[in-house]
This record gives sequence, structure tokens and C-alpha cells, in this order.
Amino acid sequence: MRICVVGAGYVGLVTGACLAEIGHSVCCVESDETKLAALVGGSVPIYEPGLDEIIVRNTAEGRLRFCRDAAEGLADAEVAFICVGTPATTSGEADLSYMEAAARDVAAAMSAYTVVVEKSTVPVHTGERVRRTISLYSNRGADFDVVSNPEFLREGAAVQDFLHPDRIVIGVSSSRAEEVMRRVYEPITDGDPGAPLIVTDVQSAELIKHASNSFLALKISYINAVARVCELCGANVTEVADGMGHDRRIGRAFLDAGIGYGGSCFPKDVAAFYQISRELGYDFDLLKNVMEINVAQRAAVVKKLQKSLWILKGKTIAILGLAFKPNTDDLRESPAIDIIRQLQAEGANIRACDPKAAENARAMLQDVEICSDAYETCRDADAAVLVTDWDDFRDLDLQRIKDALARPVFVDGRNLFDHAQMSELGFEYYSVGRRSTDRRSTDRG
Ligand code: NAD
Repeated sequence: MRICVVGAGYVGLVTGACLAEIGHSVCCVESDETKLAALVGGSVPIYEPGLDEIIVRNTAEGRLRFCRDAAEGLADAEVAFICVGTPATTSGEADLSYMEAAARDVAAAMSAYTVVVEKSTVPVHTGERVRRTISLYSNRGADFDVVSNPEFLREGAAVQDFLHPDRIVIGVSSSRAEEVMRRVYEPITDGDPGAPLIVTDVQSAELIKHASNSFLALKISYINAVARVCELCGANVTEVADGMGHDRRIGRAFLDAGIGYGGSCFPKDVAAFYQISRELGYDFDLLKNVMEINVAQRAAVVKKLQKSLWILKGKTIAILGLAFKPNTDDLRESPAIDIIRQLQAEGANIRACDPKAAENARAMLQDVEICSDAYETCRDADAAVLVTDWDDFRDLDLQRIKDALARPVFVDGRNLFDHAQMSELGFEYYSVGRRSTDRRSTDRG
């Protein structure tokens, strides 16, 4: 099939590359000139395991190309996937201006029946808006349908998730569009094992995405709230989560206490779901709590450092990890950024490192010394904070880390290390929802 993908960011690039990989002929339209130049020149502007190979292979074999102009990308395309950003506005609503502009681009370029797919995460009823916009701006009168096909890929495992998803959801309003979408995904749904295809109306598909992401964020905030109780009563949140997770109705996934969720999706999607629910007439206060707990987890890191070092002004804090999670270079809404800004507001000096996100961090952060590895970051620092649970950090020589630090204070924001081992090594060790090794305190917190 001939497919156009509008927006070649994290989702669009993975979608375009993977659709080419399963045999379609794909053109990705990208409006950012720098990104486009990189893609046309054969380099991949994001770090995503396995993506480079797929792009190189499919470009070489002629199934994948990149262009600036929607008319060129859409020429003869049966399907247009809109994969543009839907960031949060300051009030938490989704900014749909990129969606609207992409819908106009598609409207102006369509020349025959086209299935227009919203792959971006959008509030319920956006499909209807997109349909009206295309009707309004289509000058050639081509027939079309709007389909909601939310994307559930995880950065860091995006290629695997796209090609082997837990499910594919399509929200359709016509059997003609359904038939086209079934053909798009046939190589994935008919694979072994084939992915389940869930067909709904457009609104339900839009809601599935917001409800799913909000539920996952809720699970994270729930265990983080449990971690707070554990810190107050001396229980161990990892053992609590293991005990809960054995119950198949609950499951162990997303029950790791830490410094909370971040990234380009959960924070904005929870906020947008809360806002759209309010607009529709329902006060989804549960989601408000989810957001508040998440923000508090970041502040708790600063409090733990203050508990140990008292005044942070003039102290050097080593931040291990900047990406919002491992295996990505994405810094959007990363807890690390927030924590660094809070520490800087207290007057602390920051040194930081990340296996993949260091370059992006240089462009984004002011007055942060970016180091090449964890040992250099910790050298002569007053404390270290583990923010991102990269495998590289899991394998650290902890004795070397302790020797590098001026004071052996370690705040483990991801419960990555073993409590007993850290104590034996002589760290003053703080984690989340587990007892600290600060013997000067009451053994709590
Ligand atoms: P992104 O910012 O990385 O990519 C969006 C791209 O669209 C940018 O490169 C931008 O230049 C381009 N663009 C914007 N308007 C354009 C236009 N009119 N024509 C051509 N290109 C245009 O964003 P992303 O992370 O890929 O997210 C895209 C959507 O997918 C969002 O709604 C997001 O919530 C959703 N989503 C993201 C993820 C994820 O893990 N990143 C997962 C699932 C869903």
C-alpha cells in the first residue's frame, strides 16, 4: 500500500519505518528542516534501539523516503497517518494546533479517497474536528474517512512494540475505512502470534489511549503513595509490590516505586484527560491526585538531600541519568530536569551524566556540568542522586563511586541498588519506600 506519514518524530519515524518494514511504500513528511535534512542525509535524529537498521534497509530498498511537501508525500497515498506532536498547554489541555495544521495540509493535498489516521494522542472528539477541518479545506472534493489509531509504543522499545504490539486499536466510522486499516496491519495481525485487532467507534479509540496512559500513571502514583507509607512505618515497598503483583488481577508491572513518571506522554496525557473530562462535565479528581503525587516524588529527592546535607547552597550534587527513562535520549518532562532545577534553586552546583541524553541535555540545561561517565560525575561531589535506571548504572563499580564522592551520600531514586550492599560499602543510602541507612535518624524515611 502507498502510505504517507505526516510528522517524522519519535512516533512518525517509527511508524513510517515499521510500515515500510512490513512491505508498504512509505513517504514521511517532516516540516522541521534540520530533522528532514538529517533523515534525507541518511542519519537518524533520535536514539531508538533497532531503528537505524530498519531505516537504512528500507530506504535502500526504496520503500521509505522523506520529504517536506505534503502534496508530494500524499501523491497516490491511500492512507495518511498524522503523527504530529500534541503537547500540553500551560493549563494542561492538549495543544491541537499541529493536528489542525496537518489536517489542512492533508486536505489540500488529497486527490482521491484517503483514510486519514490520527495516530497522535488526542482528546476525545478530535476525530470529529479533523473531519470538519478536512471538509472545510479540501479543495478537490476527494472522499475521505477519519480513523483513530492510537499508538502504544514505548520509547526505548518502540520498534519491537510497533511490530509486536499487545493490541492494535482502530476507531472507525465506515466499513470502507475499516477494510483499508485491516490491510495496513495485516502483516502484523496475521503474524505468528498475530496481534489482536480491536475495532471500535472513533471516540472509544481516542478514549482507550487516554484511559490507558492515565491508568498506568495511576499505578505508578499508587505505588509511590504506598512507598510514602512504607517510609513512615518501616516497611519495604519492593516487598509490598512483589506481594501485590503476584495477584494476577493486579500484576507486577508499573509497581516500581521511584521518583515518578515523566516523558512526553504520561504527564501531558493525564493532564489532558483530566481537562477533557472536566470540559465534558466530569471532575476526574482521581487524576488530579495522580499528578500531585507525581510532583511530590521529585520534591522528596530534594528533601532527602536536605535531610543529609542540611543546606544545599554551594554543595555539588552528582546526577546520574538525565533521560526520562533508560534506552532513550528523550528529555521531555524528565524528572531529572525538574530535580536539577529544584536543586539549582537551592543554590546547589550540578554535575550530570547520561549514556545517551548528554548531548540533548547540553542544549537544554544551563549551568550544569555534563560529564562523560558516572565516576567523573561523582568526583568530589557532596552527594549522588540516581535518577534514570540505565543498565550502565546497574553495573557500576560502587566502591569506585564511593571513593569518588567527597561524602558517601547516595539517593537512589529508582531503588536500583541493594540496600544491604550499599550499607556494607558505607554509603549513607536513601531509596524510595525502603529504610534508609542514615543511622543518625530514627531509621525512618
Ligand atoms: P515529536 O515532537 O517527536 O514528533 C512530531 C513531529 O511532527 C516533529 O518532528 C514535527 O516537526 C513534525 N510536524 C509537526 N507538524 C507537522 C506538519 N504539519 N507536517 C510535517 N511534520 C510536522 O512527537 P512524538 O513523540 O512523535 O509524538 C507524536 C504524537 O504521538 C503525540 O501526540 C504523542 O502523544 C503521541 N505518542 C507518543 C509516544 C512516544 O513515546 N513519544 C507514544 C505514543 C503516542
